[in-house]
Amino acid sequence: MIASSKITILGSTGTIGENTLDVVSRHSSFQVFALTANSQVDKLYQQCVDYKPEYAVMVDADAAEQLDKKLSQAGLNIEVLSGVEGLEQVAADERADTVMAAIVGAAGLLPTLAAARAGKRVLLANKEALVMSGHLFMEEVKNNNATLLPIDSEHNAIFQCMPTNFSDGIEQVGVNKILLTASGGPFRTRSLDQLHDVTPAQAVAHPNWVMGQKISVDSATMMNKGLEVIEACWLFDTNTDMIQVVIHPQSIIHSMVSYNDGSVLAQLGNPDMRTPIAHAMGWPERIDSGVEPLDIFSVANFEFEKPDMQRFACLRLAYEAMQTGGTATTILNAANEIAVDAFLNERIGFLQIPELIEQALSNVSVEPANTLDCVLTADAVTRQFVNETILKQ
Ligand code: NAD
Ligand code: MG
Repeated sequence: MIASSKITILGSTGTIGENTLDVVSRHSSFQVFALTANSQVDKLYQQCVDYKPEYAVMVDADAAEQLDKKLSQAGLNIEVLSGVEGLEQVAADERADTVMAAIVGAAGLLPTLAAARAGKRVLLANKEALVMSGHLFMEEVKNNNATLLPIDSEHNAIFQCMPTNFSDGIEQVGVNKILLTASGGPFRTRSLDQLHDVTPAQAVAHPNWVMGQKISVDSATMMNKGLEVIEACWLFDTNTDMIQVVIHPQSIIHSMVSYNDGSVLAQLGNPDMRTPIAHAMGWPERIDSGVEPLDIFSVANFEFEKPDMQRFACLRLAYEAMQTGGTATTILNAANEIAVDAFLNERIGFLQIPELIEQALSNVSVEPANTLDCVLTADAVTRQFVNETILKQ
């Protein structure tokens, strides 16, 4: 039985947020301190009714006002905050010990950093924060004694397959490769020609996982795996040479770690995000997640393939950006966010996503990424560059 814990969920109305609340509801030892969302008033209101947090934050000020009114009418005494300041305030509040960072995209950076600075136990789903500012983020974690636990299923799997002293250096503890698995997404078997006219609806229809729209498109382009290569480099303090992406269409093995004695350790389970969420919430203990036990006989066939960097240029671009270093990964992330949004709004085609990112990487100047200012500037300049490039076409 784990000691009681108060948790703040950043992005509670999203897929990861809802899965987190599902795990919370299974354990009386967890109490919700704060819930946050961008603008979905009705959903956050219902979560407030069900989980009775002390704070609710809506980034959008009008939405915050509406939520406040609804909560007062229902006689619920929950303090409503708004804006990025509201997110940062609840992420750092000393009354909560754990913060689930599940906002999508760059919007998650400042509140997730605030949680790290406040020395929280940070459950990190928001991979974009690490891709944008890996060096700074890991420094904040270290300097403020925060505990960083990965929620991304692959990184959570790798964490589970690592010895507890992996922070001594993964090569030091005998690791010779991280095998990062990928489902290959909905277009795994399509040729480049067949990728030209895919629609947003086809792109978000992932074969194995139910996820938010942005990460679903990232899975279709394989940028998700690219972001995860970068995420793994920061989390496990290593470089891209140590990370091999392995296509494993069944999504049962969530990643593997290869050791210099020939052992390869893998973590398996049904594709359900409640497993990594419960693992990180309970760590170092194990708690119930509500996930169906794996029926090993029904998944007896495992396939593995090498990724095709020609068809999935986003994966290549992510490797290259990490090798370049500095703000290159910030530029990659920002260009991807704008391009994915434009694709979802049918302003560009699917194959323009990597094209725009490549253009951004060769036009926006790469700087050292050692201050928050540098990171935020690279992010803003890239967004402007990609938006202008789309308008000009
Ligand atoms: P989602 O789109 O379902 O939810 C996003 C959440 O962020 C919502 O609560 C939304 O209100 C909030 N949000 C959106 N824009 C915001 C803004 N500008 N400011 C503040 N809050 C904002 O996304 P998701 O699928 O839950 O993914 C969340 C994060 O977790 C992403 O970084 C994703 O890469 C990562 N992740 C998700 C999965 C998955 O299975 N869904 C798996 C691994 C990692
Ligand atoms: Mg993942």
